[in-house]
Amino acid sequence: MTRRDELAANLEAVRRRIAAACTAAARAPGEVTLVAVTKTRPASDVALLAELGVRDVGENRDQEAAGKASELADLDLVWHFVGRLQTNKCRSVAGYASVVHSVDRERLAVTLAREAVRAGRVVTVLVQVALDGSSARGGALPTELPSLADRVAASDGVRLGGVMAVAPLGGDPEEAFARLATVSSAVRADHPDATIVSAGMSGDLEAAIRHGATHVRVGTALLGVRPPLVG
Ligand SMILES: *Cc1c(COP(=O)(O)O)cnc(C)c1O
Repeated sequence: MTRRDELAANLEAVRRRIAAACTAAARAPGEVTLVAVTKTRPASDVALLAELGVRDVGENRDQEAAGKASELADLDLVWHFVGRLQTNKCRSVAGYASVVHSVDRERLAVTLAREAVRAGRVVTVLVQVALDGSSARGGALPTELPSLADRVAASDGVRLGGVMAVAPLGGDPEEAFARLATVSSAVRADHPDATIVSAGMSGDLEAAIRHGATHVRVGTALLGVRPPLVG
């Protein structure tokens, strides 16, 4: 089996899972965008996925993402930055990312907005929420969210797209995504256009779709188990 065949089969299986979850939740499959998380994988895999019809690609490290985005610039992909982001990487990320899922503090929001203006781009920002009561693994506390969302909404260069979360390790994803849905409603009360809910990965995309995810971020189920990072 070629790598292309393998990716085609995986993509078909993931699309079927998304469709089944949408049906079960009485939602239209078109309501859910698949973001293929290609971190640690070569640009050739991204190119194959693009041939197979994937448009949205997610990465979590700037250096790797910047290289792939530049190598594959002709493919007209939508690059999503989903990893922890440092302010000193904002200039680079604002150059290629259309959506940044991981904005969790005001200084980061302000820096990203400034760099997007400088690059002449408008970046869609999702505010990342910590659902385990601690921001240690990234994400703002739910109590910090309203001011962060207001800050993004008020800044040039960025548009507030919605919210993002990762289900806590070892926790119940149903409970976590239900909480995220509540947070999303609260954000939309003030910002009606902030309709994106980025939630769900290979292991829990069904639970996320049940609770309103509009974007699922899938790596392993599409590309296989990632090789461990060395060094
Ligand atoms: C790696 C990653 C994913 C994809 O996870 P899988 O379990 O491989 O599907 C999704 N979201 C974020 C933020 C990630 O870093």
